[in-house]
Amino acid sequence: MAQTADLVVAQANPGRTFSVPFTRTGICDEAFPAVREVLASGWVTTGQQVLDFEREFAEHVTARHAIAVSSCTAALELSLRGLHLPAGSRVVMSTNTFCGAASAIQHAGLRPVLADVDPTTAMPSAQTISAAVAEVGGVSAMVVVHLAGLPTDVEELAAAAGLGLDRVVEDAAHALGTFVGDRAVGSISRATCFSFYATKNLPIGEGGMVTTDDDELAESVLRARMHGMSRDAWKRYLPGGGWRYDVEDDGLKANMTDLQAAIGRAQLRSFGRTQDRRGQIAARYDARIAGIPGLTLPLRPLTGRHAWHLYAVRVGDSFGPGRDEVITSLAARGIGTSVHFIPLHHLAWYKRSCLHPAGGFPGAEGVYQQTLSLPLDHVMSDADVDAVCDALTEIGESR
Ligand SMILES: *Cc1c(COP(=O)(O)O)cnc(C)c1O
Repeated sequence: MAQTADLVVAQANPGRTFSVPFTRTGICDEAFPAVREVLASGWVTTGQQVLDFEREFAEHVTARHAIAVSSCTAALELSLRGLHLPAGSRVVMSTNTFCGAASAIQHAGLRPVLADVDPTTAMPSAQTISAAVAEVGGVSAMVVVHLAGLPTDVEELAAAAGLGLDRVVEDAAHALGTFVGDRAVGSISRATCFSFYATKNLPIGEGGMVTTDDDELAESVLRARMHGMSRDAWKRYLPGGGWRYDVEDDGLKANMTDLQAAIGRAQLRSFGRTQDRRGQIAARYDARIAGIPGLTLPLRPLTGRHAWHLYAVRVGDSFGPGRDEVITSLAARGIGTSVHFIPLHHLAWYKRSCLHPAGGFPGAEGVYQQTLSLPLDHVMSDADVDAVCDALTEIGESR
C-alpha cells in the first residue's frame, strides 16, 4: 500500500518526493486477504460485507444505525435531505472547514450560512453561531465539525443557533474516535457523517458512513443512497431476488462496495491500535514543539477525547518566518505539510453563494494566517516526528 500512498503524494506534489510526507495511507495487513476473498467471491458491490461493516461501525460509535455510503460528502447530503426541510432553508456552518459540507448543503437544496470561528479553537463558538444566525433572522439546521478531531460542544452550539439536536448534522470526517464529554461522536445529534477518504484516520481510500438513532432518517438515507429505489433493490441480482423494484424517492448513486467494506472492517479492528499510535505521535510533537519559540501547540480538550486526525500548530509572529515560508522551507527539507482550511469565504464559489456575516470573519482570518498541519499518520516513526521538529527548530533559528 505504501506504493499507492506514494503515488497520491506524488500526484499532489508533482516533481517532489518527501522523506516525511504529510500523510500516508496505512492499510493493515488483515485488509489484504479480506479484499482477495471479496474479489474471489463473485460479488464485489454492496452486499454482506457492507451489512457487516455497518453493524460493526454502529456498535463502535454506539449508534442504532449505520448506513455506508460512497463519501462523507454524500453522507452529509443524504442526511440533510433526510431532515425534509423546505427548499432554500438556511443551514449554519463553520467557514473554517472543507468545502464538502457546503456543497452537500447546496445539493440538498438548502442555503449555507457561514459562521466565524473562535481564534483559539478554530471552530465556531456559541457567540459566533448566534451572531451569524441573528444576522440572517434564524436558521433551520446546523452542520457541526469537530476540527482536527478536537471535540466541540454540539449541544451548546445547537442552543446558540436556537435549534434542537434533531436539526443538527455532524461532519465527523475528523472525528471517528472523538468523545464529547463521555459520549462518542456518532450518536449525539440527529445524524453523524464519517469519511474514509485516503487521508482520514480510518482510511479505505474512499467511503463514508451516516450514523443515527433515528429509524426514519436511517430508512431515508438507505433508500436515497441507491437512486431512491425500494430498500433491497440491490439484492435483485442475487439468487432468489426478483427483477421488480420501485423508485420511492429522489436519490443518489452513493452506495459503498463490498471491497471497500472489507477494507473498512479490517481497519476498524485495528483502529484502537492506530489511534493509540496517533496519540503517542501527538504527545511526542507536543513535548518537542513546546520548546520552539513562536509555535503554539494544538489545543487539548478539557473533557472528552481528541481523535488526532490532524496535528496543527500556529506559527506566531515571534517564530520569525511566516507560515507560508515555513511550508516552503519544510518542503525543501522533504517534509510535507498542509493547511486546514482555506476558509470557505476565500473560495470563489462559496463567496458568491453563501450567506456571510456583515462583520466578516476576523477569527477565521487570524487562524488562516497562522495554522499549519504537520505530518501525521499512524505509520510514521518517532524518527519522522523528530525530523519534523529538528527542521522546525532550524527554520525558526535561521531568521
Ligand atoms: C475530508 C472531509 C470531508 C469530505 O469527506 P469525503 O469522504 O472526501 O467526502 C468533509 N468534511 C471535512 C471536514 C473533511 O475534512
